[in-house]
Amino acid sequence: MQHNLIKIRENAEKEISDVVTRDALETTRIQYLGRSGALTAILRSIKELPEDERRKVGEEANHLRVHIEHLLEEKRAHLERTNQETILQKEWIDVTRPGIRIGKGHLHPITKIRREIEAIFISMGFGVVEGPEVELEHYNFDALNLPETHPAREMQDTWWLEHNLKERYLLRTQVTAIQVRFMEKNNPPFRIIMPGVVYRREATDTSHEIQFTQMDGLVVDKKVSLADLKGIMETVLKRLFGDNIKTRLRAGYFPFVEPGVEMDIECLYCRQKGCSLCKQSGWIEVFPGGIVHPHVFKTAGYNSKDWQGIAWDIGVDRIAILKYKIPDLRLLRSGDLRFLRQF
Ligand SMILES: [Zn+2]
Repeated sequence: MQHNLIKIRENAEKEISDVVTRDALETTRIQYLGRSGALTAILRSIKELPEDERRKVGEEANHLRVHIEHLLEEKRAHLERTNQETILQKEWIDVTRPGIRIGKGHLHPITKIRREIEAIFISMGFGVVEGPEVELEHYNFDALNLPETHPAREMQDTWWLEHNLKERYLLRTQVTAIQVRFMEKNNPPFRIIMPGVVYRREATDTSHEIQFTQMDGLVVDKKVSLADLKGIMETVLKRLFGDNIKTRLRAGYFPFVEPGVEMDIECLYCRQKGCSLCKQSGWIEVFPGGIVHPHVFKTAGYNSKDWQGIAWDIGVDRIAILKYKIPDLRLLRSGDLRFLRQF
């Protein structure tokens, strides 16, 4: 019996010292101290021994049990410690190391130009007003002197939204749609600009897109004239393209103004010599506008005998391609980073 105890002691010491995981340690514990463990078996059989042997063996077996428990506990603590050390080693961070540089973007060329034009108008006392891109047919067309039968509607084909309401909704074709919305809720005098994205259903090419940015302007006061409009147009173009830029004003037609005008700037590529961009004319149309049509005032609830208005539109994308000399309008919304990184 004592021989057995010595054997158990030797084996247990060796096995516990060899163990490298906590699971294996538990298996070893069960092997010796579990219900059917080697040492447990001996402790159980003590009562069958002759009385003189019983005490001695009992004592030794109990000592061995305490010894093995102690070894197990030590080993458990050791494994715990080394495991934590590996975790610490794995998760260790050198906080003094320089970080990984995160790529920084910049503003899109359209946004840059839009903000530049907005800043010019704000410096002249204008407020900025926005409106919905999904617009009622009323504000986009009818209220702007463009009834359903009007031929100019064909030039502004867009996407109509499915609906079961009395009013028809569409993706707005012009930010001019904001005009009557604003006038219904505000009294003159005022001067506002209305920037935003508009939509047209048309074939795309180097100078046409299905989506583009406009910035309309509207001034309503007791006395405003075409001379004011011309002054505003010239000021803005000079601030954008420099004092030497040549402009010309000519007649134009837009249903919501009467009379209508258009301001052109000289072609920035050929300086009036004629090239493909200006279609050999030497001039580029940038600034349509005119005197607000009495029908528009009437729809908005203004008396056109009391108030006068001037309105205009700036194609923000168009200014961007002129200013940055971009050969194809479609590049602006292509999302191509090789293009965008140049700005
Ligand atoms: Zn040209």
